[in-house]
Amino acid sequence: LLEVKDLSVNFKQLNHMHTVVKRVHFNVAPGETLGIVGESGSGKSVTAKAVMHLLDEHQTDVTVQSMHYRNEKISSFSQKQMEKIRGKEMSMIFQDPMSAFNPTMKIGKQLIETARAHLKLSKKEAKTYALDMLTRVGIDQVETRFDQYPHEFSGGMLQRAMIAMALICRPKLLIADEPTTALDVRIQAQILKLMKELQQEFHMSIILITHDFGVVAGMCDRVVVMKDGEIVEENDVTAIFDSPQHPYTKRLLEALP
Ligand code: ATP
Ligand code: MG
Repeated sequence: LLEVKDLSVNFKQLNHMHTVVKRVHFNVAPGETLGIVGESGSGKSVTAKAVMHLLDEHQTDVTVQSMHYRNEKISSFSQKQMEKIRGKEMSMIFQDPMSAFNPTMKIGKQLIETARAHLKLSKKEAKTYALDMLTRVGIDQVETRFDQYPHEFSGGMLQRAMIAMALICRPKLLIADEPTTALDVRIQAQILKLMKELQQEFHMSIILITHDFGVVAGMCDRVVVMKDGEIVEENDVTAIFDSPQHPYTKRLLEALP
């Protein structure tokens, strides 16, 4: 489904380039969940944003041998072409929920507009869709919530609304950047279960970025381990746990409680 070859990202700084992602290479098969793990600052979020073409072109320099999505070469896509793909085809759950929403528009309206931008739905159908998705991510009093603005949501609630937003168009590929980190354990389990359900329902692939090896064990088929912008190890999830090869992976696993 997705094929990324030799992706590098540099941040432009005053008088030099700072490389934060170095020749990263990975694939995601249809229906598969690929985990990306690695310590803070290892380049996980930057990699995800580069795939989505969401990095600021003035601040960053992205070089890639090729990036294919469903056999289309998206590495050469313009922002306009990417807009057609983002949402319906690939969608992202951000580490920072605020960045997913327009602060001046009601949550319900944003969900409806996102759904209608990508799916052929009437306003009424889109509303039903949006209410249903908000309920599924564990938000109660959805009718009231619908008419609220992002700042009226608590952090955890907004994170759930963002997950609803990312899933409302039933993307083929979901990139989830620490989707449950800020949530309490019960809601976390509920969200992961929902992601799995939806994965089954419409055969979605997931790239799951996380620090949490419990989440990796429960969700992922394959794992790549990043360190200082590079992939140092890639394997099936069972092999990663049973026989980690790279010293860094061993250390990450040893650090587990
Ligand atoms: P975390 O687990 O904390 O989310 P991460 O693996 O997602 O970490 P990234 O956010 O991808 O890490 O950041 C990788 C590196 O890129 C870091 O060194 C960070 O300081 C740098 N970086 C990220 N965004 C920018 C930016 N806008 N300008 C300059 N450097 C940046
Ligand atoms: Mg990150």
